[in-house]
Amino acid sequence: MAIVAGIDLGGTAVNFTLRDSARGTFLIDALCEHPALSTHGPDVCLRQIATGLEIAALQAGVPVGDIAAIGLDTPGPASADGVLSAKGSTNFAHPAWAGFDLRGQLAERLQRPVVYLNDGNAAALWGHSAVFGSDGATSVSVIIGTGTGGGLVVDGRMVTGRNGFGGEVGHVLIPWRSIAGLEDIRPHCNCGRTGDLESLCSLTGIRQTLLPHFLPQYPAHPLHGVDLAAAATRVRGLADGGDAMAREIFRVQARALGLFFDQMVNLFDPDGFLIGGGALEASRGFRDWFVTEVRAGMPVQREEQVTRIELMPDGDTAGARGAALEAVRVFGL
Ligand SMILES: [Zn+2]
Repeated sequence: MAIVAGIDLGGTAVNFTLRDSARGTFLIDALCEHPALSTHGPDVCLRQIATGLEIAALQAGVPVGDIAAIGLDTPGPASADGVLSAKGSTNFAHPAWAGFDLRGQLAERLQRPVVYLNDGNAAALWGHSAVFGSDGATSVSVIIGTGTGGGLVVDGRMVTGRNGFGGEVGHVLIPWRSIAGLEDIRPHCNCGRTGDLESLCSLTGIRQTLLPHFLPQYPAHPLHGVDLAAAATRVRGLADGGDAMAREIFRVQARALGLFFDQMVNLFDPDGFLIGGGALEASRGFRDWFVTEVRAGMPVQREEQVTRIELMPDGDTAGARGAALEAVRVFGL
């Protein structure tokens, strides 16, 4: 029996899944998490991963020795081969992480082959496989969180690109001035661009741009006087409850996404789109409204092009599942 592990390493937690590649089934249904302790540096964190993997094997009822290969995903920035940026990263702040060969070191620690994907790409691969199947479909995924991640699968293959930056959907520029109500703003992104998808369609975009823009238009709003970072995290809940300003902010995000999808329709003519991330951890009614607004933000397509828009399945385990699928493919298991 060939067992493949998917390991989704974040700043605070590491999430595991195990896949029986012969049967094509996952052996862990729910979230299987272990503390990552990434602030303690690579040594401690790698030990946490090894311990967590043993716990996952126990939970799945398989000997840890049966795990033949591993798919690993993390937030970036990192190279296509899993070397973290020398300039450091938000999720791996300890100085020893700078330039750390995470994929290579994990392979050595666990004595197994390891393949690497960034977390957006891994989630996109899982969503693609679950929704569009494995027969060479094309999809574009957008994960709306603190930033904007995602991935591009073309004819069934993940596009990672020459440097590992393929499918960086967040930094694609969009014509934001065509969104009603945004004519006078300049949405800056931390990457240095003005008016890319992440500058509007992320929690950071809410904090840096949309909340400071819309809040003054609602003088009696309860978020006045609340620290911006804390206020930004409350916008989704308020929008779900029907708050007018919060709905306006999410309408802008949906329209931005619609403009981005339109570009992708013309570039790839995909089978469909997937939307995931914390922004959509809300009621069914809110999610349906959001997708309707995305569609409303898209220019009319050619008659034969019907745009399919789906929500990312298994949001919190999508990364680990996608990483496992990549290991199955790369190592031919
Ligand atoms: Zn950007």
